[in-house]
Amino acid sequence: MIYLDYSATTPVLPEVLDSYNKVTTDFFGNPNSLHSLGIKSNDLLNNAINQVSELLNVNNEEITFTSGATESNNIALIGTAIANKNKGNHIIVSKLEHPSIYNICDYLKTIGFDISYVDNTEEGVIDFEDLKKKIKDTTILISICAVNSETGIRQPLRTIRQVINKCNNKIILHSDITQALGKVQINFNDFDLASASGHKIYAPKGIGLFYKKKGIKCTPLLYGSGNIYHPGTPSLALIVSFSKALRISLHELSKKTDIVTKWNEKILNNFKKIEGIKINHSKYSIPHIINISLMDIKPETFIHAMERHEIYISSNTACSSNKLSTSVMALYNDKKRAETTIRISLSCLTKLEEINVFINAFNGVYEKLHSLND
Ligand code: PMP
Repeated sequence: MIYLDYSATTPVLPEVLDSYNKVTTDFFGNPNSLHSLGIKSNDLLNNAINQVSELLNVNNEEITFTSGATESNNIALIGTAIANKNKGNHIIVSKLEHPSIYNICDYLKTIGFDISYVDNTEEGVIDFEDLKKKIKDTTILISICAVNSETGIRQPLRTIRQVINKCNNKIILHSDITQALGKVQINFNDFDLASASGHKIYAPKGIGLFYKKKGIKCTPLLYGSGNIYHPGTPSLALIVSFSKALRISLHELSKKTDIVTKWNEKILNNFKKIEGIKINHSKYSIPHIINISLMDIKPETFIHAMERHEIYISSNTACSSNKLSTSVMALYNDKKRAETTIRISLSCLTKLEEINVFINAFNGVYEKLHSLND
């Protein structure tokens, strides 16, 4: 099997799975219990919180473990919208967000919030002039995805923060960093809120991160005991797995990026030789994600044909399969191009041999399916 869909989800690293199993059996006590088993679990929980906040260079109180980026995005957008509605009802998001952000915005519209969608340049970066124009006195929140899940285009968050501050430094900036964490350097000073998922960094599914800078007002969406934003009994084994996966994924980040860049270049060089396909890429794309449009071949047909070679790639994102790619539409305003995208996403675990087999299979499948159109 050749797995090239790492942006949809990653396999759990064996050492992370070992931690998960160990914590599940040896630390089953509820961290909220007063007895020694509870204290032992609570100590481990605090260690994991310390490790994550140290790795991200944030304070312990600024992080919450959630079930994933979808939940974190909900807390970030709905929670801050509600908490700050006395200051205004206007929210701005980019046209290169994950579908979960748009669905949350659709909900916010039903409860009286006004949503604007900021344009991007041809290179996929936020159009600063349009952003300045769209900021109003009533703007309370802006959400910009750090790395677009379909095309890998990375936003210059620090510059975006500076542009926003020049207009109104009270505006809260959220960034969905799900596709950026563990792949590129992130500076948590660049935003006020952030969301991420563990299963994109080789941890199990069902664990995510919500970051909220101290002092930012955000209303909880769930009520119970324990953590303010994600109440209830902490999922200790998942939290420890997340902290371990995060530590491993941040270790030697630039070395890992070099490996992925090598594979990226090899694949892109092959795609550039194929006349019929379009590469949806800009100088801001990170190497981990390659997006192309097949133009005259249905992505589903292509993906299933590749699957017969035991090669796994994806169309759009895992969360919006078989629909028009909103990101590619936002970049090129070309329906055919946006309807026929496929995504190949790479990891530092990917081997040269896998890239060679992928390229051969891709070329064979493409030639066969393309010739059916003649
Ligand atoms: N944001 C981005 C950028 C994503 O890529 C994803 C997952 N595809 C999500 C949010 C949602 O993450 P999850 O499904 O883990 O909640």
